[in-house]
Amino acid sequence: MHQAFRKASDPVIYLGKKRDDYFKTFQTFCQGATTVAIFADFLASKLQTAIHQAVYTKVCLDIADLMQNNCQALNGNREKLEFHILKELAAKQNFQAFQMYINFPKQYFEEFITNSVYSYCKENDNLKTFLNTRLRGFQCLLLKAIATATSKTKDIGGSVVMWLDEFCSQLGGELQLGRQELKAVEHQEIKDIGFLTESVTKALENVVESLSKDFQKTSLKDIEHGMSNIIDILIEQLCGCWEKCPFCNAVCTNTIPGHDGDHSVPFHRPQAVTGTTWYKTNYLVTDICTSLVASDCSIVLSESNKIPYKRYRDAGIPYSQWSITADNSSLKYWQWYVAYFRENLESSYKSKFEGRGNIPDTWTKIKKEEALSEIGKRLTSNS
Ligand SMILES: [Zn+2]
Ligand SMILES: [Zn+2]
Repeated sequence: MHQAFRKASDPVIYLGKKRDDYFKTFQTFCQGATTVAIFADFLASKLQTAIHQAVYTKVCLDIADLMQNNCQALNGNREKLEFHILKELAAKQNFQAFQMYINFPKQYFEEFITNSVYSYCKENDNLKTFLNTRLRGFQCLLLKAIATATSKTKDIGGSVVMWLDEFCSQLGGELQLGRQELKAVEHQEIKDIGFLTESVTKALENVVESLSKDFQKTSLKDIEHGMSNIIDILIEQLCGCWEKCPFCNAVCTNTIPGHDGDHSVPFHRPQAVTGTTWYKTNYLVTDICTSLVASDCSIVLSESNKIPYKRYRDAGIPYSQWSITADNSSLKYWQWYVAYFRENLESSYKSKFEGRGNIPDTWTKIKKEEALSEIGKRLTSNS
């Protein structure tokens, strides 16, 4: 009896008996702690990549938003964009640039949009602010996901598998973090969800700190891929039909590529801008398409194929796909251009502004500011 009592109450004997159990618990605890650390590290590395990518994507969209709201050239429609292109060309007064714009309008527009995006970003250095704001946003989202996953798992005594399921579902589509990728660390030894939460929170803190340091060094070049997507979106939004008037190269103003019906443009240009000369002369044509379609002149397709301008559609495609109405609409801008670049046009097309191609005196008196203000006024009255 005494012996039996001593065996049951002696702490040394008692502890000796429990030794194996304690060791097992201790072993499990150590194993669990190590597993939690591995889990937190693994999750952190996946998060680091996912947050980095997501921040870049969001920042590119922020920049696109900013451009569409604040950048003068890009915050309107195609007509407004073209006005800014004409303004820039007039400021540069570079004949080659004009030639590029007149002959390859699509490429010129795209280049203009790209340059506008980059120079706007350089002038308004919002990149670091955007990056940090987005980073803090993702940090909040993740802390909330951790808290929700923990509370739901604890409530029903769930496992690490449940914690991960809940955590991933809380992120929604905001982060590219595949639940499948995390299978490798969902070990059942992790029993202490509180400790897991603590470790993941700490790991997330380190991730945010490290990303924040990275973003201090980020330049526009680093987000180039995302920027080119944004530029593509802007190009798509701001561009439309690219058909050019077969006489003067003015671009159709319809905003839908491949639209139904005829191509048209409110203002044609003196045909000299494309080097057209009067039949059997080297005199450049200063008349514009809208006055020629009302005249008795003809389109000379070949020696044996002359079509009166009044029936220009009979010349077939592309002429037949254009609606050119007879009127006197013309822009001072192109008159200024022809008068200002007279010599360049003459030498470029090896022709002269003489005879029927004489440049009217009034054109030589036009100031480019006056020409631009005429287009500006039209834009305001249209908007
Ligand atoms: Zn035309
Ligand atoms: Zn068109």
